Amino acid sequence: MIEGQTNVRSVRFGSGALDQIGRELGRFMVTTMDVPWELARHRLGADPVAVLRVESMEIDTLDRQVAAAPECDAVLAIGGGQAIDLGKYLAWKRGIRLVSAPSILSVDAFVTPAAGIRRGHRVEYIGQTSPDPLVIDYDLIRTAPAELNIAGVGDLLSILTACFDWELAAKAGRSEYPFKPEDIASARQILTDTIRQADAIRSCSDDGLRAIVEGYMRVNTLCLPVGHYRVEEGSEHYLFYELEERLGRPFIHGWIVGLGVRLLSRLQEHRHAEAIHFMETVGLRHQPADLQISRDQLRASLLNLQPYVFSRPDLWYTVIHERPIDPAWVDAALDTLRF
Ligand SMILES: [Zn+2]
Repeated sequence: MIEGQTNVRSVRFGSGALDQIGRELGRFMVTTMDVPWELARHRLGADPVAVLRVESMEIDTLDRQVAAAPECDAVLAIGGGQAIDLGKYLAWKRGIRLVSAPSILSVDAFVTPAAGIRRGHRVEYIGQTSPDPLVIDYDLIRTAPAELNIAGVGDLLSILTACFDWELAAKAGRSEYPFKPEDIASARQILTDTIRQADAIRSCSDDGLRAIVEGYMRVNTLCLPVGHYRVEEGSEHYLFYELEERLGRPFIHGWIVGLGVRLLSRLQEHRHAEAIHFMETVGLRHQPADLQISRDQLRASLLNLQPYVFSRPDLWYTVIHERPIDPAWVDAALDTLRF
């Protein structure tokens, strides 16, 4: 049993945790992509009645796939974020059991209830699902590139800047939600426990992979009941939003969030050296060179960050509201980065 309120109904950790799972599922279908399916298909102990590959996350494509899928008792989602989201959407639409087996930890789709889909070019989160069980097969996850599994810590490290932002908002009387110091303390404990596992995460050992998954589950235990992710999302994510709109392309999420933590912790003057030390110890790539962002692009983005945030009333109050970002500050910050 999982402690507290979490979206995950049950979880199995272990090398080989996926083996023979097909025998427990009755008539089941699989959602996946080619690479994870080749790795997993011979281990299930039973054959699915259908295998649905990710074609596109557009809602029309998903609805066509759901309509064409056979009757069955369960959906087994094996793969990265999109394969998991396809499984979530299908399980929700059909009202059947979901089993999720991530093959990579770079995004947290496997612990969140809603499926990320696209309508036109906008991402929406719809539906409500709980994996039962969530299968964390360390061997399957270690087939993914280490640097992408390590990217999973980005959304845990973001606690460092996001909690400080929420405290600033509360002090300014601008918090959008009832301020809960106990939630800040709990979130910081998650961060502390993650930092403690830095060497294990760097090597993607069983303990390191487990630390990332448990960190995600604990964040959800805090955030799902209150209905917002204030302890985990703040100014560091807003830099990412600005860059995504500016450059019109996706990024490895944990890496771009790492860049955001690095720059916004500097603006906050809060635990900045510690953030850099952790990212270096754990091997979290976050440099503009890793993300193919030029110095001119990042400079323009930072100088536009406050106007950008002010233009979006849906974004929460953070350090960006309080501290103007001037060219001298930007140039000094950029001098510490690698392009
Ligand atoms: Zn995030």
